Amino acid sequence: MAKFAINLKEGNIEKESELIVGIDLGTTNSLVAYMKEGQAVAVKDESGKSTLVPSIIHFTPDQNVIVGDEAREKLATDPTNTIYSVKRLMGKSYKDIKQVEQYFGYRIIDEDTDSLVKIRVKDKFFTPIELSAEILKTLKRRIETELGETISKAVITVPAYFNDAQRQATRDAGKLAGLDVLRIVNEPTAASLAYGIGLHPDDNEVAAVYDLGGGTFDISILQIHNGIFEVLSTHGDTFLGGDDFDRAIVDFWLQQQDTGQVSSSQSLRLLAEQAKKHLSQHESYENTLDGITYAITRAQFEALAQPLVDRTLASCRRALADAKLKPEQIEKVILVGGATRVPLVKKAVSEFFEREVFDKLNPDETVALGAAIQADILAGNQKDLLLLDITPLSLGIETMGGLMDVIIPRNTKVPAKVGRRYTTSIDGQRNLKVAVYQGERDLVEHNRKLGEFILKGIPPMPAGLPKIEIHFIINADGILQVKAQELRSNVEQSIDVLPQYGISEEEMGRMLLESIQHAQEDMARRALLEARNEANNIILSADKFVQQHAAILSPEEIEITRALTSDLRVAVAGTDKDVINKAMEDLNAYTSPLAHRAMDTAIADAIKGISF
Ligand code: ADP
Ligand code: MG
Repeated sequence: MAKFAINLKEGNIEKESELIVGIDLGTTNSLVAYMKEGQAVAVKDESGKSTLVPSIIHFTPDQNVIVGDEAREKLATDPTNTIYSVKRLMGKSYKDIKQVEQYFGYRIIDEDTDSLVKIRVKDKFFTPIELSAEILKTLKRRIETELGETISKAVITVPAYFNDAQRQATRDAGKLAGLDVLRIVNEPTAASLAYGIGLHPDDNEVAAVYDLGGGTFDISILQIHNGIFEVLSTHGDTFLGGDDFDRAIVDFWLQQQDTGQVSSSQSLRLLAEQAKKHLSQHESYENTLDGITYAITRAQFEALAQPLVDRTLASCRRALADAKLKPEQIEKVILVGGATRVPLVKKAVSEFFEREVFDKLNPDETVALGAAIQADILAGNQKDLLLLDITPLSLGIETMGGLMDVIIPRNTKVPAKVGRRYTTSIDGQRNLKVAVYQGERDLVEHNRKLGEFILKGIPPMPAGLPKIEIHFIINADGILQVKAQELRSNVEQSIDVLPQYGISEEEMGRMLLESIQHAQEDMARRALLEARNEANNIILSADKFVQQHAAILSPEEIEITRALTSDLRVAVAGTDKDVINKAMEDLNAYTSPLAHRAMDTAIADAIKGISF
């Protein structure tokens, strides 16, 4: 069922393919893969040399954009116009990346600290989305050249810990590159699929995906059952990867060098990377640069790499603890990322998990190959599999007194849909503000606001009568939609929650830690706020009661009720929940017989009315 499209630029008719491609949009390298005769393959460049496109974008003096190997060469000669690691900036604000700004060799705009970052190249500004789109366009062109067809549908992978903003940014980059992104898939999930793990409905396993790329390390523990991939936990280090191995080699060489003559740092770094790669196959490396000989043996390199590898294992230990599993309970261990080619890494991971690792595929292609398999599943060419993730933090709304009311708890599997009933607190209330928060603390002020909207046009009714249903819906990409509906009138309002900026893994960790540290204090605050909320309601109804039923109350009863109400007001102004509760009880105990009398009178009146 091929579609045809007219290429206006070239003036010819092109066949538009139904093929859905798989894309690994990496921090260091990106690549595109597709299913060819039932086999996932990554697409090579025109020279047939490499499947990897370095995720580097260079702006030439005449404002042309080049991506990949050619752009990589400009890192040394024209760093301010050469953008790398743009994935780190996806869905982030300047505030999020301020501390690591010096890591980037190009200019990041710091004017508006809360909105999404922009990158300055000459006198133009670019968003990370636009820059990522350039990488995606290159990949799109690459596969279109290979197949001779227009490609418009893709699956793109992201790290398991990417939040809504980062996933949405990735999706937007796809759109900008002319790709309809059918699914955002977690990298570890794609890696499992590449090894065929989880492809059969009866597969039931726990897998660990160890991903050591150029600049980042991720460990993910997955539970795979009934074709469902559930992320039990993820951990990692956003500044630890193959680049650190290169840096260690550079430092090693510089220490050995007599002071004085030193090669340019960028070319030395490239030489170090060459040495590292060479040592994955050989026992020693030697080369000359600017007349200086640089040498290193595998044993020397391993001594340098060991502390870095140890840091990854510490993350593995934490991920296991979060998933409440022991190393021996992990049935499959998958190596992903170019840096896992280092023999020391393989050995260390294999020893840590006490089993053989999956490393037959090219580790830097694994994720893209899995994305191609996922794309094939979506195209309906394989038995449908559901992909499942979890929410890393709780999601909820603000209720009276600034309390967080959790609607979707942390670690809930997505896609998910949860509804809850609310009502108004004031008579005749026409509007209701729905403010959405993410976090574990009891008070919204300590959590992170994702967005808000106002449900308008609630028909005036006494407080407590409107039935307002709030639904939280998270789709398979982990993007949240919040809907509010007043059921008596069908007034409805909804938003897609696209936060202004992202949340880093560290921040997420900090939020969780704080929620534990402050649990007791939060509980006390919550109890106080709840008591205040309840007391305020009682004060309102007591006032109303006295007004409406003055006729059947004695002056003394009215006075005592007022006095007790005023005691309660004083208590509410204080900070002791027990005092508030006591004052509430006193007022209730006193007014309860009066309320009964009022009710009896009302019934008697009603009966009188009927008998008439
Ligand atoms: P990312 O996921 O960050 O985009 P990759 O998975 O492509 O990155 O990994 C890139 C890293 O892998 C680089 O640091 C590169 O030097 C390293 N690498 C690639 N091949 C080898 C090899 N043969 N031996 C050691 N490291 C390698
Ligand atoms: Mg990667």
